[in-house]
Amino acid sequence: MDLGIKGKRAIVCAASKGLGRGCAMALAEAGVDLVINARGAEALEATAAEIRAAHDVEVTAVAADITTDEGRARVLEAAGDVDILVNNAGGPPPGMWTDWDREDFIAALDANMLAPIAMIKALVPAMMERGWGRVVNITSVSVKSPIPVLGLSNSARAGLTGYVAGTSRQVAGNGVVINNLLPGIHATDRAESLDKGAAEQQGITVDEAKAQRCTTIPAGRYGTPEEFGATCAFMCSQYAGFMIGQNVLLDGGAVNTTM
Ligand code: NAP
Repeated sequence: MDLGIKGKRAIVCAASKGLGRGCAMALAEAGVDLVINARGAEALEATAAEIRAAHDVEVTAVAADITTDEGRARVLEAAGDVDILVNNAGGPPPGMWTDWDREDFIAALDANMLAPIAMIKALVPAMMERGWGRVVNITSVSVKSPIPVLGLSNSARAGLTGYVAGTSRQVAGNGVVINNLLPGIHATDRAESLDKGAAEQQGITVDEAKAQRCTTIPAGRYGTPEEFGATCAFMCSQYAGFMIGQNVLLDGGAVNTTM
């Protein structure tokens, strides 16, 4: 399917691995030139090379911490004007509600709420002037159904979701479409480390922990970065112009709700 975005330019944050990488690859397949980011240069350059080899698009790699002012400034300078922004960063660590103090919350807010808001504020005004833009924020299933051990994530992502709900409606009239994409469990390094944590806590093997988590998913398996990326690319496409301020859940049916 031609998504109608060939020749557009996108920033995909936190994209050397996992879900960000899946989004970058799917946008490249749609013909979008990319600026991709992550902190570690080696994996980032390897991903950039794989995308270039697979698809005929420009890929600029910027190794920087997207949760810092300095890191964002470097990404934005390298990118210039872009039509598409995919916000992403690492998720906060798991723990108990009693574990976290002010500094932990500030770090989670910086990574999963204030960094995407800063990127939106930096890029959306020019998208509005040009009359076309797409923003997808990678958040989490925890926005719809809390994951108790991920209290920092539950809190920070709820804040971003509230911001997007209002802001998306303020910019929609100028052709800018902002939505959130909510991953349930997907097979990435992040899922692997959560499996390890669950295994240690319960004294079982990682495979057993994974099998246990699969039983909570009606689809019976983890999602893939490719499936996630394809949904993201659709949300960045010409066909997503009437989809405003939505929270699109991609979880294999794990959240048991009617709507
Ligand atoms: P992942 O496989 O661990 O990949 C994370 C990517 O983000 C890597 O490329 C990493 O590279 C980059 N990154 C991390 N912190 C960064 C920072 N401060 N600045 C720039 N890049 C950074 O994680 P994932 O599974 O794709 O998860 C992506 C997001 O979705 C996370 O916020 C996660 O909490 C959320 N999520 C994931 C799942 C899941 O099942 N996978 C479910 C719900 C929510 P560097 O380390 O080199 O920077």
